[in-house]
Amino acid sequence: MLVLNDDQVMLQDAARGFVSEKAPVAALRKIRDEKIADGFDRGLWRSMAEMGWTGVLVPEDQGGLGFGFVGAGVICEEMGRTLTASPFLSTAMMAATALSRAGSPAQKERWLPAIVAGEAVIATAVDEGRRHDPAGTAMRAERHGNGFRLSGTKAYVVDGQAADAVLVAARTAGSAGETGGFSLFLVETATRGLSAERLSTLDSRGAAELTFDGVEVTADAVVGEVDDGFPLLEIVLGAGRAGLAAELSGNAQESFDRTMAYLRERKQFGRTIGAFQALQHRAAHLFCEVEVARSAVLAALQALDADPAGASLAVSVAKSKASSVARLAAQEAVQMHGGIGMTDAIDIGLFMKRMQVASTLYGDADFHADRVARARGF
Ligand SMILES: Cc1cc2nc3c(=O)[nH]c(=O)nc-3n(C[C@H](O)[C@H](O)[C@H](O)COP(=O)(O)OP(=O)(O)OC[C@H]3O[C@@H](n4cnc5c(N)ncnc54)[C@H](O)[C@@H]3O)c2cc1C
Repeated sequence: MLVLNDDQVMLQDAARGFVSEKAPVAALRKIRDEKIADGFDRGLWRSMAEMGWTGVLVPEDQGGLGFGFVGAGVICEEMGRTLTASPFLSTAMMAATALSRAGSPAQKERWLPAIVAGEAVIATAVDEGRRHDPAGTAMRAERHGNGFRLSGTKAYVVDGQAADAVLVAARTAGSAGETGGFSLFLVETATRGLSAERLSTLDSRGAAELTFDGVEVTADAVVGEVDDGFPLLEIVLGAGRAGLAAELSGNAQESFDRTMAYLRERKQFGRTIGAFQALQHRAAHLFCEVEVARSAVLAALQALDADPAGASLAVSVAKSKASSVARLAAQEAVQMHGGIGMTDAIDIGLFMKRMQVASTLYGDADFHADRVARARGF
């Protein structure tokens, strides 16, 4: 059923209150204008940990809340409404998913309590070029003594500039284009040979290009199965894609709400512009699209809770729909605000910039529409 249960509604209310008070859009402007190197506020991240958000996907027997993907998505949606910058997606969703499902006992003991406490940031490094292409991974992890030696570059690693460790996808066999031969490694960012170059991003958040120059790790760094890591990577990416889709749903909803408020306030030709039928039609169309996107997102989050390995179709539907609807919402918001919509004086442009990044990350609307078409045999 595509509705939230009572616990999820309470979490939504708490998240909405928290981000509107502690992380309004002005907080993102501060990160941008003061060039805060982490790309997020560490004090805010600790407050999120106190709220329990960092453990939302960590099982209760491992110290978390075990609230599941719907709960995580509810938080993402609310953060999307205020453009909250935080490592929630990279750390509390993607890394927590990888480690709680496939981490060794030692990895779980080392990292899960640190994630829950808000003391560890863990990035995921997959893509090596401009486009999202996990199967295209070429980075090598050569066997070296008892462990591996990693060499290669990861192009756009969310939170890579602030991370304590990075979950990196590399080839222990096969070649670019194949889904066999993948292994995932958890590498501390202080390891010799690993360097990060912070990127200047459109959405003012943190991301880095990571270079692995003969980085040596022991076999203990492997997360999951050697040579057969692609299914786990898909689940980790599924968590990231669903989180982004939920965030984009919140981004679209907020763009819509702000635009509706403006249509009721702005007067031209002696009337509020919302009285013009041309704009009413556009607003009605956008309302319907935002509702459809939210339903697709909730279906994906529920599918992940039911069976993370079997949720990829629902996740791709959600990521595709939420990406295209958030784009429509941003474009309509700018247009319906008239000339002021493209200025920095109001926040609408910031929603558009974040939409541009979040809709592209881990596969854009076309990437995921293509996956849906292939899965359906088109
Ligand atoms: C890059 C840029 C440069 C500019 N440079 C100049 C300049 O050099 N000199 C200058 O004087 N101005 C300039 N402008 C301002 C520009 O002329 C106005 O932005 C434009 O005329 C629209 O007016 P507005 O911004 O007040 O929007 P509004 O009139 O408030 O429009 C808001 C929304 O309502 C819609 N709308 C308005 N009336 C109706 C209607 N009757 N029926 C249906 N829909 C309606 C509009 O299409 C829009 O979507 C510039 C704007 C931009 C973006």
